[in-house]
Amino acid sequence: IYILGIESSCDDTAAAVIHNGKILSNVIASQKIHEDYGGVVPELASRAHQQNIVPVVDQALKKAGITKSQLHAVAFTRGPGLMGSLLVGTSFAKSLAYGLDLPLIDVNHMQAHILAHFIEEDGYNKPPFPFLAMTISGGHTQIVKVNDYFNMTVIGETIDDAVGEAYDKSGKILGLGYPAGPEIDKRARLGNPKAFKFTKPKVADLNFSFSGLKTAILYFIQRETKANPNFITENLNDICASIQYTIIGILMDKLKLASKQTGIKHIAIGGGVSANSGIREALKNGEQKFGWTTYVPKFEFTTDNAAMIAIVGYLKYLKGEYAPFDVTATARLKI
Ligand code: ATP
Ligand code: FE
Repeated sequence: IYILGIESSCDDTAAAVIHNGKILSNVIASQKIHEDYGGVVPELASRAHQQNIVPVVDQALKKAGITKSQLHAVAFTRGPGLMGSLLVGTSFAKSLAYGLDLPLIDVNHMQAHILAHFIEEDGYNKPPFPFLAMTISGGHTQIVKVNDYFNMTVIGETIDDAVGEAYDKSGKILGLGYPAGPEIDKRARLGNPKAFKFTKPKVADLNFSFSGLKTAILYFIQRETKANPNFITENLNDICASIQYTIIGILMDKLKLASKQTGIKHIAIGGGVSANSGIREALKNGEQKFGWTTYVPKFEFTTDNAAMIAIVGYLKYLKGEYAPFDVTATARLKI
């Protein structure tokens, strides 16, 4: 079974072909233009998707070594995401499926970040149901109890900013480029995590909050640079390490609580921030400390990609769960 997956929810135009759950191609065109603005500009993203989508899909088919006529279904991201971006992928997928007389399959982007763990990879153990998934990305921070492929419940989530936003906004305060997550991560490994202390927010249950941390960092940097204009450059690695240490502490506290409350010890992570080396390390430590079995996706399946859309398409195809042709892109689609 050949499935084409199309992803266009934010600022990456991506297409992938999957054959019986195995990746044949996974193509991404990242939009550089947003770097100049320090964040994604929706109108520019939508336009870039329009320019990229035909060549990206074309390349995905070529790399997979198949033609359009060999496809069994077309899967696309229906939401959540930026409306103008989602519309490009949705309309394209609809026209393609309609033209080729193929089933159309709608995919929830946040489910896909979780179900990326079910891409067939040699030597990769898939999590058994039920498991806990922590999705940490640019727009979301959730703990999800996954009972089955399409039976999942959000048991905790952020009440304000997402963890990826906390990284990117901290980076902006420090004068780093966008997105700042990867650079903060890299510098964090060279710095002292206990150099500066930021208090963790007190949020009830399994929910998260990151906006207070952002403000705390802003005030801290304003205060310190007033006393020493070179404070940031002189302490950048230590600042990054301290921010990362605080963020990981917040995430791990809630994950421990979730595991305790549900009694589930199979723990997976997904989303762009799961590329973070500190999170990966903390999770691995949880194996010895708490008897967890942890599941960390391959690097290329953490940030936005179409392979994760294609695998969900495949799982839905097996169940015959197709979308009607009047399906609409939904910016605030829930899990
Ligand atoms: P969503 O999936 O919620 O719609 P999104 O698709 O924009 O949001 P992703 O592409 O999944 O988000 O993730 C992007 C985020 O991941 C950015 O905020 C980026 O800074 C962050 N990120 C990427 N690599 C790392 C890293 N190594 N450490 C920390 N954060 C990282
Ligand atoms: Fe994403």
